[in-house]
Amino acid sequence: MLGPVILAASRSDRMRRLVSAAPVTKQVVDRFIPGEDVEDIVPVIRSLAEQGLELTMDVVGEDITSPAQAAAARDAYLELIDRLKPLELGTRAEMSVKLSMFGQALAGGHELALANVRPVVEAAAEIGTTVTLDAEDHTTLDSMFAIHEELRKDFPQTGCVIQAYLFRTEADARRLAASGSRVRLVKGAYKEPASVAYQEKHEIDRAYVRILRTLMKGKGYPMIGSHDPRLIAIGQELAHQAGRKPDEYEFQMLYGIRAEEHLRLAAEGHRMRVYTAYGTDWYGYFMRRLAEKPANLRFFARSVITR
Ligand code: FAD
Repeated sequence: MLGPVILAASRSDRMRRLVSAAPVTKQVVDRFIPGEDVEDIVPVIRSLAEQGLELTMDVVGEDITSPAQAAAARDAYLELIDRLKPLELGTRAEMSVKLSMFGQALAGGHELALANVRPVVEAAAEIGTTVTLDAEDHTTLDSMFAIHEELRKDFPQTGCVIQAYLFRTEADARRLAASGSRVRLVKGAYKEPASVAYQEKHEIDRAYVRILRTLMKGKGYPMIGSHDPRLIAIGQELAHQAGRKPDEYEFQMLYGIRAEEHLRLAAEGHRMRVYTAYGTDWYGYFMRRLAEKPANLRFFARSVITR
């Protein structure tokens, strides 16, 4: 029951101020977001890569209110890509971007987000890697898929995310699988109404398996974004049934969540990518992580009380 309340709080400015000002918040946030700027994050990237893990990098931020902030978000990614260049990781370190951070919700936002994300995709291609467009709330997805399609004309490796909890996703998965796209499948992290999304965990899990089967049978590159041990085992089985080799799909998990499982899958020879977020505008990202697991909230509350 707590999850929807926390997700509602993730959109509240008042809660943002309260949570951000709590003195202990930082140490809890660090578990999920291991750095505020590019200087902090480069050693983290190096260390994860040395452990045989791959990365997808998120400069946290969303819901910006001006074109200048959108341009700053673009520049933050360009700076990161510049710093990644000498590491020569190629596709072992790709980018994940939220189009809301690139101006998608502003007036003329679709064009603005496309104009801001294109240079990031170009810069990523120059260092031999790529970009995946994260999925945000359902009202943003038609624009996200249109931008994805547009970018793929020049950069076919550009990926996108689909969310198993949405009714629309089975059709999206069929289209993307047929067009040979890179696709990350996740359960979905936003508070969505019953008119567009499954609300029960078992329904979401069942949809996840149906959609993953479609992706595995298709022409694209499936990216299994989940920490759920059952879905990970099913993912391995479906990949096997579809005759996919270990480099024809991958697992993805979030930094700070089930880290021992990241290493186990990598040691077994799977491609394992860690979604690694950094930056100062961490509130929305952090609150979604709390909502996914009430124990995180108890840990956070205990830190506040025992201080
Ligand atoms: P769950 O059933 O939620 O969790 C399974 C188990 O994993 C739990 O029992 C617990 O042990 C562990 N676990 C899961 N979450 C947490 C947590 N926060 N803290 C501690 N333990 C936890 N969502 C979007 O809507 N759009 C996106 O673009 C997007 N990108 C993502 C990228 C990656 C790489 C991943 C892994 C997730 C992404 N998500 C995204 C979030 C996703 O939608 C889910 O909210 C999240 O992954 C939790 O679902 P789960 O599949 O891990 O299963």
